Amino acid sequence: MRLALRGGRLLDGAGDRGVHDLYVRDGVIEGLDLGGEVDLDVDAAGRVVTPAFLDLHAHLRDPGQEVKEDLASGLAAAAAGGYGPVVSMANTIPVVDGPGIVADLVARAARVEGARLRPAAAISKGLRGEELTDLAALKAAGAVMVTDDGVPVADSRLFRSACEYAAALGLIVQTHSEDPSLRDGGVMNEGAVSQRLGLPGNPDASEAVMVFRDGEVARLTGARVHLAHVSSRRGLEVARWLKAGGAPVTVEVTPHHLTLTDECLRSFDPVYKVAPPLRTAADVEALRAGLVDGAVDSIGTDHAPHTLAEKQQDMLSAPFGIANLEVAFPLLYTRLVATGSLPLERLLWLLQDGPARVMGWPAPRLEPGAPADLTVLDLEAEREVDGTRFKSKAKHTPWQGEALRGWPVATVVAGRLVHGEG
Ligand SMILES: [Zn+2]
Repeated sequence: MRLALRGGRLLDGAGDRGVHDLYVRDGVIEGLDLGGEVDLDVDAAGRVVTPAFLDLHAHLRDPGQEVKEDLASGLAAAAAGGYGPVVSMANTIPVVDGPGIVADLVARAARVEGARLRPAAAISKGLRGEELTDLAALKAAGAVMVTDDGVPVADSRLFRSACEYAAALGLIVQTHSEDPSLRDGGVMNEGAVSQRLGLPGNPDASEAVMVFRDGEVARLTGARVHLAHVSSRRGLEVARWLKAGGAPVTVEVTPHHLTLTDECLRSFDPVYKVAPPLRTAADVEALRAGLVDGAVDSIGTDHAPHTLAEKQQDMLSAPFGIANLEVAFPLLYTRLVATGSLPLERLLWLLQDGPARVMGWPAPRLEPGAPADLTVLDLEAEREVDGTRFKSKAKHTPWQGEALRGWPVATVVAGRLVHGEG
């Protein structure tokens, strides 16, 4: 199989490589401007060709909740969003807490056309926070990370044990840094808006306290701990302090925490209900500053699909989560890059080199021999978000009808075109 992506501007973490025809053969990048016969031509003229994005945080709901999402729909959604490797979270039914489930996911994903599955496994059996999983067996089966994401690991001794094993095995630990007792029954950010609406609040302190615990245990054990979906200024300040002190922690933020605030909840629409919650404008500003100054290492989607019926319940009953794989890049491009608050190169870094560094994977590059995971971006054409056209089974989105630019118009994974428009 040989592909040519013709006439695109090549951009990667090494810089702007100019306008070229990029050739792909048998799953890897072959070279530039080579000529000769190809099986498929992709017109990239006037567009940007760049390594496919890496998502270290997506809920694909498979096994057990295929009514929300499954491997086929989730990996197709990721491809449509310009993603190559996607780390799937372990809070499925059953939980991904044994090597057999990991191996089954890897085997089934290999038969799916779309993004690359890189499964995470649970820290504790059943996500119950009581008994450690067999981290070595999970890694051997193909797990690239351990996390109880969705549920904070409340027991500090258990978290320490997990970090000790993970450090010895070279596994990344991803956290869900919220103190469960401080979070309590909070369904939105605790503050002026939650008081006005009379909804139970989840204070920023619940995040800051747990970021501190998680970071201190990382320092104690030497485990590489990725702090998922940091949402608040206080949480980010603690992470910044930990990093300055040499703790082996990295920081993830999500597209929704960078673009939405708790003011959205005034609509009482659970489409905005997410954990950790949408915070204040000042928090959004702090997270955005962190993108620029290096406090943030990666942008992960925390794509968390649910059925429309579930999300149309009242604010107290509806589940937490926003489905965003297919709008993440256009949203961030339009709101941050097109407005001049973030350079395009930095946004790409946070979706490519940043997550690769977190995982200890090679930086994705447009060089001969590198894996052909590529995305073609149209930075000019404006198009309205239409959730009904999502590949994800979750069709409802906070950004319905918004005019965005920066749409991924083609995605190549392992040398195959897995998403293409026009
Ligand atoms: Zn999550």
